[in-house]
Formats: sequence, structure tokens, C-alpha cells
Amino acid sequence: MTYRRSLARTGIFAVVYALATFAGRATVMDDANLSLVWPAAGVAAIWFCRQRHSPLRWADAVALGLITVAVNTATKASAPMAVIFVAANLAQAFVFVSLIGRWRPRLWGAGGTEPLRSPPDLWALMAAAFGATVAGAAVGPSVVWLVTGAYSWTTTSVWLSRNTASILVVGAVGFCLGPWLTRGPAAWQDSLRWLKGVPGRKIAEYAALIVCSTAAYLAGFAYSHGLPLAFLLIGVTVWAGTRLATSFVVIHNLFAGVIVVLFTLDGTGPFADIGNHASRAVVAQLFVMLTAVIGLSLALGRDERSALLAELAAEKAELGQQREQASERAELLRAIIDSTADGLAVVDADGRVTLRNPAAVRLLGGQTSPAGGFFHLDGTPLENHEMPHTRALAGEDLNDVHILVRNPGVPEGRVISVRAAALEDGAGRRSAVILFHDATAERRHRDELTNFAGVVAHDLLNPVTTIEGFSDFAGEALAALPDGPEVDEARDGLARVHRAAGRMRLLIDGLLAYTTARDATVATVPVDLGQVVTEVTVARLDAAIAAGLPVPRFTVGDLPTVQADPVLIRQLLDNLIGNAVKYTAPGVTPEVTVTAEPDDDLVRIRIADNGIGVPAGQHEAIFGNFHRAHPTAKYAGTGLGLAICKRIVERHGGTIGADDDPGGGSIFTFTIPPVPGSAQVSFSRAEEQSWGDPLR
Ligand code: ADP
Repeated sequence: MTYRRSLARTGIFAVVYALATFAGRATVMDDANLSLVWPAAGVAAIWFCRQRHSPLRWADAVALGLITVAVNTATKASAPMAVIFVAANLAQAFVFVSLIGRWRPRLWGAGGTEPLRSPPDLWALMAAAFGATVAGAAVGPSVVWLVTGAYSWTTTSVWLSRNTASILVVGAVGFCLGPWLTRGPAAWQDSLRWLKGVPGRKIAEYAALIVCSTAAYLAGFAYSHGLPLAFLLIGVTVWAGTRLATSFVVIHNLFAGVIVVLFTLDGTGPFADIGNHASRAVVAQLFVMLTAVIGLSLALGRDERSALLAELAAEKAELGQQREQASERAELLRAIIDSTADGLAVVDADGRVTLRNPAAVRLLGGQTSPAGGFFHLDGTPLENHEMPHTRALAGEDLNDVHILVRNPGVPEGRVISVRAAALEDGAGRRSAVILFHDATAERRHRDELTNFAGVVAHDLLNPVTTIEGFSDFAGEALAALPDGPEVDEARDGLARVHRAAGRMRLLIDGLLAYTTARDATVATVPVDLGQVVTEVTVARLDAAIAAGLPVPRFTVGDLPTVQADPVLIRQLLDNLIGNAVKYTAPGVTPEVTVTAEPDDDLVRIRIADNGIGVPAGQHEAIFGNFHRAHPTAKYAGTGLGLAICKRIVERHGGTIGADDDPGGGSIFTFTIPPVPGSAQVSFSRAEEQSWGDPLR
């Protein structure tokens, strides 16, 4: 705020204050030298509120003081009295500014920008007005009493009523119109626009109210007819408060106040008959205050209601928009789900299908309930606990599980690949979401390929055995011949043939193992994993000793009994432990640790080694067919071992994966079901057993 603007404002308020003071002093009616109305109280309150942040607030205080002294002495008040009035008016203005600033900081004049908006604003204004008036009275009438030696309760009540009424009526005008005046020319333009938008009916209502109010003033106050018609004014105030703009209501209140006081002073109206000047002033002020409060509380209550209704309407509109967007999104989703070629179904906890798309109906041959018509690939029917939705609801995540569907809709049978998982809605209800995919052609293709591979592998075994046999036989014959360049060349060639035949056998064995792991019926029985691991590791120790390689060191934790196919589980552990021993750097003694731990309803087996590790980014790829991450001559292999492992684990309902061991090497883990009903959760990992080179 610039100094110039601040001073200009001080000047304007000073002039208005001087006029209000003169007007007030003109109503001094008795020897106590007390004005019956004091509009200057309201003007000072607004003045000091407006100048709250002015850098020249002292100038305002000085101006108020000078004007009060000047007007009071000019209107025959004694000098001490004038000084007392200065102190009282200043105290009153400062207390008002501080109280309203504390109670309603967002209001214009209290540091904020808003006009009066609700009845609580009005109650705050009234309380601040009364508090300020009491503070002024503590200085004014009390000091007058000290000076003159005569204390008058009448004087105090006149002071309290006239100043509270003044701050309330004039202050309300300031607090309602202030924000608008502060906005400058833009506010005028807005108001003009608003005026143009006001319907003719409303303008007629404003005009009618002005006419009726004038009639009420005239009838109630202008003539001394002896009839107490002051209530007419309450009627028009209620009308204005309930129907017309709040800014109009505050001006209406101000006019009503001025007219009531003027006529009463002039000796007309219902209050003019009250003999005592002071009582007359108090009654008139109370009447003015009451009509002002009635008008304002009605208008502000209505404003508050309208604001709430507008807020509600905006919220409703937003909700409607959101609902519309949600339904559009739902329609889009429904269209996508319906048009997809894969089947989708949602089954609730009671086994009821709550959603399915046309593809699901088609893929399941029109089957509309999860009961019946579902088989394992070997033709045995699925038990209820094996159904995808039951497994998903039990917390299992199904991924690419193949199921045979056969019913009157698909008499020839269809293989479907199923993915399923449980989902919880907002209300905590669990449902199984199941995705179907027709895997018949894919399956047939794969079967044909595997069968072909199996047949070829099987048929190739004979020629390989023949090649190995005859190359051994030829080798022996060559060994008997004396050394010479041709003989050496022949021996070398034969050794190559032998090695190639060995590689071929490895590959054929791998292929056969793969087809077995894939197709053989899984016959699960309780298998003591500790026993299997011991057998596998002992075989590895023997092989290393026989081959003259560094003898591996095995550490085996407490392993549980699991529900598995003994042949397949043995093959699985043999592959993983074999790899752990095989993939170590040259000259390093392999160290392999096998442990187990519970994993939900399954058991997790962990095989950690100190080997060369799996190259970054290939931890998943190594489980694919023929994928070799270290395809060097140093590490012979076919790339089928882990594919077989994956197959075996999946056929037991588990998962397998590889990770880097932070301490070096790799960790392979797989899950497998424990023996049903066994308390598989407690393993004592402390009781680990180690064994290695028996000679050490
Ligand atoms: P392979 O016959 O080549 O051993 P696998 O399927 O058993 O075939 O393994 C696939 C590839 O995964 C291997 O070629 C090797 O690169 C990598 N691999 C398997 N086990 C380990 C291991 N314990 N440490 C490091 N790499 C391994």
C-alpha cells in the first residue's frame, strides 16, 4: 500500500467521520452532554478495519483524535470531555479491529477479502461490536464519572446501545459493500452486467419493497397518530431479508435506522412519547438493532443455503459426469471382453458363474456351470478340488494349465489352456477370474512334434549303439597295429567318431527324458527327499572320483517327505545337482548346499552352488528347450536338462526359477507339494549334514 493512497483514504474517512460526529453531536439532548445516536462509532470501526495494514495508522489515530476534539469543543463539550471521547473512540475502534480480525480473519476489513456470508459471520460482527462498545464504555462513561463524580447507569446503557447499533448497522454496510468497492471499476462493470441480467419481475419487487418501506416509515413514524405501527417496519425487513440481495438489505437497514432515529428525535413515531430522553434513545436503538439483525440473519441464512445448494448442485453434476464416464468405460470394457477370442469367466466363492464372455461359452461347448465335463489330459475327470476356480479361490495362481473339455457341445474334446487367479472386490468378496485359450491345435502340433522326436530318438539309439560298438571294435583292431602316420590318422578319426556318437547319445537321452517328463503319467507317492538327495550326491561323488575331478562338497539340510513321482523327482534333483557340480570354474571344488523351507502350502527346495553363475538376463531363458547359456566345449550338454526340470515341477503343481547367489554362484529353487496332512512347516535347518571327499 503506498503512502499516498493510504493518506487519501485517511482523508476520505476523516471527512465521513467528521460528518458522522457532527450528526451525532446534533443529538445531544441533556445535561450529561451525551449524544443519543453515534454513527461515528460505525464509521470509525470500518475506517480502522480498512486501514488495518496501512503504514500510516498513526495518522488515522491522530485524525480521529483531532476531529473528535474539534467537533466536541465546537459543540460546547468541555476540553477534558473531548479528550475522554477521543480515548473512548480510539479504544473502541482498536478493540473492534482486533476482535473481528481474530474471529473472522477471512472477512473483508478483518484481513481477508470476503463479504459477510453466513449467520455466524453476523454473530461474530455483533459480538465484536458489543465487545468494542464495552471497551469504549469502560473509557467513556467511566472516566466521565471520575471527572464529574456522578456515575449514571442510564448514560452507560445509552452509550452501549447507541454504539453497538451504530457499529452493527454501519459496520454491516461496510463489511458487505467493502469487498465490492475495493475491486474498483471491474466491480462496477460486473454489477452493471448483473443488473442487466435481473429479470423484470425482480426489479418490480425491489420497487414494490421501496414503496412499501416508505409507506411503513410514514405510517409508523412520520405522524403522531398514537398508533404503535413500528412493527410494519419489521414486516418489510423480513420481506427484504427473505427475497432481496444482502447488499440491498444492509442499505435498507441503514435507512430504517436513520429514519427511526430522525423521526424519534423530531418527536414523532411510537417512541417519541417516551418521556425520558435516554430511555427513548435506548428503545429506538434497540428497535433499530433488532430490525437490522432480523433482516441480516434472514438474508445471510438464505445466502448460506444458496451457497450450499450451489455446492451440492456442482457436486451432483460432477458425480453425474463421473457416473457417465464410468458407464462409458464399463461399456467399452464389456465390448472388449465380448469381442476377444479368448474366454473369460468369473466364478464366485459359491461356484456361481457371475460373468462370462461369448468366447468362454463357445470354448466350453456351451457349458454354463463349472460342474462336469472337465478332464485331465489323460482322460480322468477333474475332481472338484482340481477345478481351476477352486484352486484359484484357494490362493493358487494357475498359469497355462491344460485341461480337456468334453461334453455334448464339444463331443470330440477340446484342450484349453487355463490361467486363473483370485480377485477380491471392494466389499471383500473373493472370486476366481479364469482365462481360457483354445490350445487344441497347439497341443496337437506339440504332441506330434514330441512323438516324432521320441520316435526318432528311440530309433536313433540303435544306430548310435552300433556306431559306438563298431568304433570300439575298430579302435581295438587299430590298437594292435604298429604305429605309423596312416594308423595314427585312422585312430584320430575313430576317436572323433566315438566322441560324436557320445554327444548324439546324450542328445537322444535328453530327448527321451524330455518326452517322458512331459507325457508319463505322474504317479505321486510320499518320497523322502533326504533319501533321494543322498543317493544323487553319492553317485556324483563316485563319478567325480572316477573321473579324477575335484571332489564336490555337499551340505544338505533337513529335507521333508514330499508327494511326488519318485522317478521324476529323482531326475529333477539329479539334473539340478548335476548342473551345480558341472558349472564351476576349472580347478574349483564344487560346493553345493541343498535346503528346504515352507512356502505357503508347498515346500521350497533350494540348491545353491559356488559355480560360474547364470549370465545376466538369461535366468528365465535357460528353462527353454535347447537353451545353453555357456555353449563352450568345457561344459558339455544339450540344453534340455532345465526344460525337463521345469516340466517335472509344473506337472507336480510347483514352480522353478534361478537366481544369483549374492555370495557367488547360483541358486535354483523349486516348489513341490508336501505329503498331504504332514506338518511340513517345521524344518530344523540347524541339523545340516555335510559330506565330500571321503579320503579327506
Ligand atoms: P545343459 O545340458 O546345457 O546343462 P540345462 O538345460 O541343464 O542344459 O541348462 C541350461 C543352461 O543353463 C546351461 O547350458 C548353463 O549355461 C546354464 N546353467 C544350468 N545350471 C547352471 C548352474 N548351476 N550354474 C550356472 N549355469 C547353469
